Amino acid sequence: MDRGFHSVRPEDFPWSHADIKAALIAETAGKCAYCEARMLAVSFGDIEHIYPKSMFPELVVSWNNLTLACSGCNQRKSSKYDASSEFINPYVDDPAEHLFFLGPAVYERTNRGMYTIVELGLNDIPRIEARMRAIENAANLVARFQAATDDTTKSMLWRLIDSVLQGGEYTAAVSTYVSAAIQPASSS
Ligand SMILES: [Zn+2]
Repeated sequence: MDRGFHSVRPEDFPWSHADIKAALIAETAGKCAYCEARMLAVSFGDIEHIYPKSMFPELVVSWNNLTLACSGCNQRKSSKYDASSEFINPYVDDPAEHLFFLGPAVYERTNRGMYTIVELGLNDIPRIEARMRAIENAANLVARFQAATDDTTKSMLWRLIDSVLQGGEYTAAVSTYVSAAIQPASSS
């Protein structure tokens, strides 16, 4: 079985096994669990310990404590941990209870939401710009969907919009945009 780099001893980094990484990539569709960036085109992606391994060594190989993060989020989060205002855990928390999106920017509903935004730099300019590009891509599809006059084109465009909502980057921001843009005509 391929254990990756031969200088890495599995007993030192048991969570870094290639099979674990592959499973995490499949589970997250290659997206960072925190910022929803799809990072595999430009980096390997980091195995992230939701509860820092330095403070919670008993969770170091617990599957429920592992996810995939971009190097930006992983480095910002590092071993930070605040028991009174924990980072939002996308596996056990409902992020919508703590965060909401207005366009490409994210805002807090709770202290934990604010802690997560500030500590992970979720409103840093490059991240706002990346979400803006994802929203513009969705807006283009929505405009074509709304302008389409035949059912075949409409259904094809809807499938494209749906695939962006299911597997694309920044789906929290993009889905907020799409649901605001596609209002039932009867409501006006
Ligand atoms: Zn990230």
